[in-house]
Amino acid sequence: LNKTTKSQLDASKLTYTFNKSPNTVPALNDPIRLEQNSTTDHMLTVKWTEKGGWEAPQLRPYGPLNLMPTASCIHYATQAFEGMKAYRGVDGKLRLFRPELNSRRMNLSSTRIALPSFPPEELEELIKAFVAVDCAKWLPDPNTFIYLRPAIIASGAALGVQKPREATLFIIAVLFPPMDSPTGLRLLASKEDMGTRAWPNGHGWSKVGANYGPTLQAQGEARERGFDQILWLLGSEGRVTEAGASNFFIVWKNKHSGRLQLVTAPLGDKIILDGVTRRSVLELARARLAHNATEACTEIQHLERVEIVEENFTIHDLVEAQQEGRLVEAFACGTAFFVAPIAFIQYVDQGLEIPMTAKTEDGGKAGPYAAAIKTWLKEIMYGRVQHPWGVVI
Ligand code: PMP
Repeated sequence: LNKTTKSQLDASKLTYTFNKSPNTVPALNDPIRLEQNSTTDHMLTVKWTEKGGWEAPQLRPYGPLNLMPTASCIHYATQAFEGMKAYRGVDGKLRLFRPELNSRRMNLSSTRIALPSFPPEELEELIKAFVAVDCAKWLPDPNTFIYLRPAIIASGAALGVQKPREATLFIIAVLFPPMDSPTGLRLLASKEDMGTRAWPNGHGWSKVGANYGPTLQAQGEARERGFDQILWLLGSEGRVTEAGASNFFIVWKNKHSGRLQLVTAPLGDKIILDGVTRRSVLELARARLAHNATEACTEIQHLERVEIVEENFTIHDLVEAQQEGRLVEAFACGTAFFVAPIAFIQYVDQGLEIPMTAKTEDGGKAGPYAAAIKTWLKEIMYGRVQHPWGVVI
């Protein structure tokens, strides 16, 4: 009986050790929140070894992880992560937004970087347990959110360049200020000397740390020059991929067909991250804004129906559309920046002003489609409408 059975990740084995000196929650206007460094009282950790599989998950006081300087994650970017939010609704309930998608994506990202696979529904259960126990206190006010960071790292002490034999999965929560931009983002289109964020059959489609560190030099340059984010272009043709760590959408009149289209880059060649917000924007648009839309909504009475298109386009197509007055709007979307209208794009020596002709419910400006989509997503996240995507904890 020397056969070893490896344990699966099992949320029902979660143990609880509560923090005996919990912190007080900073007020909504406390500048400490701007530092994006304030964490909650607890974290959740699970250890995995190649030999034994997954150990029992532990909810325990927030604190340092125990790593040797030889740990693989410190050297070889053997790391994957997720970004999601827990929301306190207008009805006082705590919600997650489509947490099964983040859980599934983290499993895909983990295996991309030679870290272990796990049943996504077990991670989802752990996220829910963590939010229920730890985040309730940290989100006292309706209409607020807290950022959740599940991550997995190769934590074993072994300097060799090889498939990790030990890993630690953890979940923490961080107080973030809202980052959606009421005045519109200013983007700097990347030039070849700023590097390439992702390429065909690379790992841009996965949420591994290796996709992010190498972009920060360009992002720093953009910030110094007064821009908010990089618009990442690919190849000599200048394919438009993503904006910072967000997916990128435009609404334009197609040059050839003359039809109004909502366009974003496709997932097929493994360059673009399959964003939860991107997916939700596409699904809502297909249900409510398309010519064959099935859901009736009051907001769309003043909006022309659109074709929804996942296709590549270049910065030259974008420049031409703007110059010919065919560009209706552009927006970025993702968990952190939410639905962020784009006000301006700098491409080499050309500055493109992007129309923002509608008002958002928070008093900002946006394109009319981004404004409607933002309202719909907020309604679900903050429980103003009951929807299967808003998962009550
Ligand atoms: N693209 C990249 C590169 C990202 O890091 C993110 C943030 N996870 C997104 C897009 C948006 O994804 P999501 O809507 O799931 O937050």
